Amino acid sequence: MGLQRFQVVRDSFNRQAIKVETPSERPAAYFGSMVFDRSKMVKYLDAQTCAALLDCMDNGAHLDRATADKVAEGMRVWAMENGVTHVTHWFQPLTEGTAEKHDSFLEFDSEGKLIEQFDGKSLVQQEPDASSFPNGGIRATFEARGYTAWDPTSPVFIHDDTLCIPTLFVSFTGEALDYKTPLKRSIKAVTEAALPICRMFDKKVKKVYNYLGWEQEYFLVDQELYCSRPDLMLTGRTLMGHESSKNQQLEDHYFGAIPTRVEAFFRDVEVESYKLGIPLKTHHNEAAPNQFEIAPIFGETNISNDQNQLVINIMRSTARKHGFVVLLHEKPYKGINGSGKHNNWSLGTDTGTMLMAPGKDSNGNLQFITFFVNVLAAVQKHNAVLKAAIATATNSHRLGGNEAPPAIVSAFLGRTMTDVLHKLLEMPSDTPIQISGKKSKSLGLVEIPEIFVDNTDRNRTSPFAFTGNRFEFRAVGSSANCAGALSALNAAVADQLVEFRQAVEKEMQNGKSQNVAIIETLKPIIAEVLDTVCFDGNGYTREWQLEAARRGLDVETRVPYMIQAFTNPDTVEMFERTGVYTKKELEARNEIKWEIYTKKVQIEARVLGRMAVNHIIPAALEYQTKLLNNVKLMKDSFGDNYMNMAGVQMELIEKISALVNQIKTGVDEMIEARKVANVIDNQFEKACEYYKIATRLDVIRRPLDELEEIVDDNIWPLPKYRELLFIN
Ligand code: ADP
Ligand code: MG
Repeated sequence: MGLQRFQVVRDSFNRQAIKVETPSERPAAYFGSMVFDRSKMVKYLDAQTCAALLDCMDNGAHLDRATADKVAEGMRVWAMENGVTHVTHWFQPLTEGTAEKHDSFLEFDSEGKLIEQFDGKSLVQQEPDASSFPNGGIRATFEARGYTAWDPTSPVFIHDDTLCIPTLFVSFTGEALDYKTPLKRSIKAVTEAALPICRMFDKKVKKVYNYLGWEQEYFLVDQELYCSRPDLMLTGRTLMGHESSKNQQLEDHYFGAIPTRVEAFFRDVEVESYKLGIPLKTHHNEAAPNQFEIAPIFGETNISNDQNQLVINIMRSTARKHGFVVLLHEKPYKGINGSGKHNNWSLGTDTGTMLMAPGKDSNGNLQFITFFVNVLAAVQKHNAVLKAAIATATNSHRLGGNEAPPAIVSAFLGRTMTDVLHKLLEMPSDTPIQISGKKSKSLGLVEIPEIFVDNTDRNRTSPFAFTGNRFEFRAVGSSANCAGALSALNAAVADQLVEFRQAVEKEMQNGKSQNVAIIETLKPIIAEVLDTVCFDGNGYTREWQLEAARRGLDVETRVPYMIQAFTNPDTVEMFERTGVYTKKELEARNEIKWEIYTKKVQIEARVLGRMAVNHIIPAALEYQTKLLNNVKLMKDSFGDNYMNMAGVQMELIEKISALVNQIKTGVDEMIEARKVANVIDNQFEKACEYYKIATRLDVIRRPLDELEEIVDDNIWPLPKYRELLFIN
């Protein structure tokens, strides 16, 4: 199938719109056409090479150099058949988004003739000139260079006429410099910890999988309007802007009709994604105007996360073709719902059992309860780390805002599961957990409905919710790499599962049957999680903040302080035990996080200051001059009588002076505060100072937004919310 063609047309407002020539085939016909998947391996590799590669992908077997050469050659042939000329190692550094360095296939052969070649060495490892990627001092201190290493478990693909090799990014001393490396370690930890527990219930299980289904929220904005808002362009959010007369109060956007231009964009994103084997399933409007969500069918975590990063890239480039810009900032507009990225997370076995869903019989149910409760225990013990894992400057506008997950990590279970846990506590430890309806024995048995996806009422205020067959980590920000959150979650669950298994084994050594040992080990954990992390109420209330603190949950709301949780001694031990992060990596990552926090706030502060002084104050003064001229003319025309007639003008003139004063004073004070912060060397302390500066932004914003309400619309230099927020 050829690449898709776009045709730019103009709509009735002379705005750029796109007519898309969509492939005539059904998605199934071209799904994965741009992925070097198993069918391509069979076609482009000889049988022996193919078998070796599959063994490497599925079982982690070593791939020798000669075989890697053949794999690379097969990939090159396939790529060139698709018009590809370049290859890149695609990786996920600790900045937002992905990075790549393109090399062409061109090489000189031994006789100096130009040939096209791609060998195993270039496939397996490359050294990007990566000194500019954040490394928290790791490379500076230990080894100047980092390298990218092929991740054979995630498929190679073609994007933008380039052969892309998914890779890990590590320093020469072995520390992870990216998101993917710890994610892969955490997947290994959690699946290996889960395996022996699964085998207590079913000896046939050989492998456990870790699943992710993400839901990506984002805003679209017209490109031209975006380009006239320096704040959107440079910080991803509006630093000022009075709320629109209409925003989301009519609740008419959610599942409402999708504008045609947006529909064309969706369609295009889908076609591109299908070619890359990304099984997008839904797209729909979200609660706020111009806010949308896109979600695939869930898959293995490592691959699904790569796909999320890819879809973001696809959305960004496709949006441009349609005259839009994608906003991934967690809070582009004040007073309007923010954007998150729900991470639907679960574990499953190679025998097809979903471990976070009720089983088919009492054995399966006990297995489900075992995993369910251990996940809760992990979240309880490491609630501060899970929060730290999603804490960023941009997500901080969402956390704790009155319309998004609060800055306290608790777990929502729903009525059914809460009741089941309470009942389990009261029952003798050999009580089977029945499927409700199936067995109508005596009352008092612990029962779980076979499927209760619909019973899990949607408590939108919970950051971590059980939704029938999975947990949804909802506090993750829309711009985040899922790996940040999931590496922490997987590690915490892995550690808990290991501890649990050891406890059960000890009980069994004391002569207890397996089931009794399991339930007796579970009981105290259940009692504890019910009293601490489980919370089904409204997470936004002040009462919950107080109650959560009483329960010992982390209630820190300041991002730089939240981040500290990663280097608490207990946390460091947990991450080292599970092999997900070393202490050195954790310390380096915290440095990076604080640095990024500081820089983001610093950029916002600069942009706001300049917009205030260079855009808004001049506009306000221009309008004030207009008013003054009007008053002067009144006086000239009507003499002393003018005072009776120019009351409103005088009032506005005074008001503008007062607001302009407030703004200028606020900006000046903020600049002074920055000077103080900028000379601090310690990244944590600097970030804490910048946290205080962040609160100043809101104070400066108020008079700016007030001016927007009174200044002549013709003079106002920026597109307003009412324009940014509605696409026609
Ligand atoms: P919602 O109703 O919350 O919008 P959806 O039913 O659209 O949720 O599903 C959201 C995401 O959850 C999808 O990516 C879906 O594939 C994924 N999902 C469903 N079941 C599981 C599971 N067991 N493990 C992981 N992800 C899952
Ligand atoms: Mg969901």
